[in-house]
Amino acid sequence: MFKLKLHWQILIAMVLAVIFGYATGTEASIGGVTFYSMYSFVGGLFLSALKMLIVPLIMASIITGVAGIGTGEGFGRLGSKTVIYYFITSLLAILTGLFFVNLVVPGVVDGVPAGSLMGLEADVSDIVKNAQGRGAGDFVTVFERMLPANIIKAAADGQMLGIITFSLLFAYYMVRIPARYGSVMTNFWQALMLIMLEITELVMKFAPIGVFALVAKVVASTGYDAVIPLASFTGTVFLALLFHSVITLPLLLAFVGRVNPLRHYQAMMPALMMAFSTSSSAATLPVTLDSVERRAGVSNKVSSFVLPLGATINMDGTALYECVAVIFIAQAYGIDLSMGLQFLIVTTALFTSIGVAGVPAASLVAIVVILAAAGLPAEGIGLILAVDRILDMLRTTVNVFSDSSGAVIIARTEGEVDILTDSNVV
Ligand code: ASP
Repeated sequence: MFKLKLHWQILIAMVLAVIFGYATGTEASIGGVTFYSMYSFVGGLFLSALKMLIVPLIMASIITGVAGIGTGEGFGRLGSKTVIYYFITSLLAILTGLFFVNLVVPGVVDGVPAGSLMGLEADVSDIVKNAQGRGAGDFVTVFERMLPANIIKAAADGQMLGIITFSLLFAYYMVRIPARYGSVMTNFWQALMLIMLEITELVMKFAPIGVFALVAKVVASTGYDAVIPLASFTGTVFLALLFHSVITLPLLLAFVGRVNPLRHYQAMMPALMMAFSTSSSAATLPVTLDSVERRAGVSNKVSSFVLPLGATINMDGTALYECVAVIFIAQAYGIDLSMGLQFLIVTTALFTSIGVAGVPAASLVAIVVILAAAGLPAEGIGLILAVDRILDMLRTTVNVFSDSSGAVIIARTEGEVDILTDSNVV
């Protein structure tokens, strides 16, 4: 029987979701039950199913991956390559944002700072409160999160960085204890990994329904009206994100990774669509791992190291967004930013993006932190709230795309050949 490929099914679900979400809004109901609550319920179930996989999958994936590196020096080399890739791509993303926001100047409309035109009614007290006590050096909390006092609690709280450190240490020593003990563990984690990948595939079968509900919910509650006054800001973010994902990263894929970028897009489709619909790199991680390993052909050794770390600390889209948002807010308030201040914004965006969690709307707090560091009014965040959700979908997609590109590029520099070739299931 003819069966539509999964990513087409998801794409169709998205289109239908936009139509339904717009038509029903938050009020329309059937038999006393609003469509909105149905979207919310189904989308919530799907998200839970994805999140349920995260802890066991990440642990199994990292442990088997690091065990695959063995006892040689590969561990340190892979680690340094990963960190260098993350650093360079995030910086390139921020500079792209900086370029576009200075080119388009979305915060000024007909020579008038847009802040006065829009009026600031949004209640931003919660976000500002969350940002209190946090500063530009906020990224040091990353180190605190790396060493959780209680690994079970870290797992329960979805504190990925702690789980990553623990799993890395565990695997490192698992291959260094006597083989008759170590092999029991290796087999156990390998079996767990395979089982988790199967369950991921099962959950993905429901992706069209889950994605429909998640996207319909966003469209129903946001509508298009919110976008119009902020069209120029939305457009700037969109352009910059587009540049990063269709020019910068593909160039790296082509020249450093020496693979065909078009094939990489194709292989990553399920993960990208999932990132777009969930606005969460963390919830997308199981799908990203599955796509990078099974569809692009990257070894478990590399993907299990690069991707979980990437979902936590490498956020190109977020870093770019933070930079554009802060400069837009300054423009909208009619504040001129010196070169020095722009430099401060770039560096703070780089470091705060490392600390931002892979969950929806996580950048908002980071933006308030940067506003404070640059001496700009924290209330300015209210200007962008209306379109944040839609832009969150886009920046999360770029976050995930950069992680997956990193996995491919690093695997290629490690000498892997069978990546994105005809023999892969693309
Ligand atoms: N939603 C983003 C992510 O999960 C984080 C953010 O920028 O808010 O990657």
